[in-house]
Amino acid sequence: MRDSPTVVDTPSPPEGANLVRFVSVENMMKLVHAIGLSQMLVDLARYIEADFKRWPEFDKQARVAAHSPVGVIELMPTSDGETYSFKYVTGHPKNTREGLQTVAAFGVLSDLNTGYPLLMSEMTILTALRTAATSALVARYLAPKGARTMALIGNGAQSEFQAEAFKAICGVDRLRLYDVDPQATQKCAANLAGRGFEITPCATPEEAVQGAEIITTVTADKQRATILTDNLVGAGVHINAIGGDCPGKTELHRDVLLRSDIFVEFPPQTRVEGELQQLAPDHKVTEFWRVVTGAAAGRRADSQITLFDSVGFATEDFSALRYIRDALETYPHYAPLDMLADPDQPRDLFGMLMRAQAR
Ligand code: NAD
Repeated sequence: MRDSPTVVDTPSPPEGANLVRFVSVENMMKLVHAIGLSQMLVDLARYIEADFKRWPEFDKQARVAAHSPVGVIELMPTSDGETYSFKYVTGHPKNTREGLQTVAAFGVLSDLNTGYPLLMSEMTILTALRTAATSALVARYLAPKGARTMALIGNGAQSEFQAEAFKAICGVDRLRLYDVDPQATQKCAANLAGRGFEITPCATPEEAVQGAEIITTVTADKQRATILTDNLVGAGVHINAIGGDCPGKTELHRDVLLRSDIFVEFPPQTRVEGELQQLAPDHKVTEFWRVVTGAAAGRRADSQITLFDSVGFATEDFSALRYIRDALETYPHYAPLDMLADPDQPRDLFGMLMRAQAR
């Protein structure tokens, strides 16, 4: 287990091998601390925003999902015509009862020209960071100006990252925490203590939303859940709905959606996976990239309810991997990974294998 690290004996790769940079979980944690958590969230949001700005350049498709009765394994590919990335990510809500994580991920960034991978990285921590950075970036465009109070419903693995990103990017410094499991709320409050928040643990969702200008739902349940009923959502709030992210898994009552202006990443994916599953296939939504480029309006009125129906899109992982690739130039927290055969004579793969035996 991660908290009692074991040393992995990796033999040195052969000299001259074409090596891929590999960021392990240990190295990702070193990178976060070297850069600083707040700074990294701000930087990630900047990279994600830059890629939303050039949205038409990306090759986009809804992610490929393998569902089972207990969870989902997804592949999330994209490319900007020069660089390609994919993420492998899981969603298994029952896992926490078995001492395992709901979400686990890794990803690859490749050169589209040669097809060779450049970087392979853990993405469990990086997904939490990029999801939080995306949420806060979207809220910077949509949340009421000067919002400082956020209800954080669902206090699991993603929750503290969400809180930190909203502090670093939007200035949120008052949190109202709620989880069906009070131990999760205790863990979240303890982790965030002394980090610049005024924290109020709450006993019900009703209590949590009181006075909140932003409501984040980040719960995990592989079934239709109703975390937010209509009566809990007052005029003018921004809802950051993270947890409804696969078919059959939603968090908001349909009536909340009908009162909200809904902003999404990539409609073909969100209509299948997001809160939008509950609405007609042609229900009007705004693609967030259009808000970033100025082609569509964000928040237009104080009383408007804005809803970010987040499911997580491949370009956000692309941005995150692109950021890590660049950050490694300053902070070389990676290991060389010998995963490309790359013989000196490209067509002599067999000869390379035989010469290795002779050595
Ligand atoms: P987690 O299992 O660590 O935490 C989920 C928490 O939700 C748990 O503490 C659980 O007790 C709580 N919960 C369940 N039902 C609840 C309810 N009715 N009311 C209040 N709390 C409830 O999971 P996690 O890693 O924090 O992920 C949370 C969700 O976010 C998952 O569904 C995951 O798939 C999703 N997710 C979305 C994105 C995205 O980009 N949109 C990215 C990562 C994770």
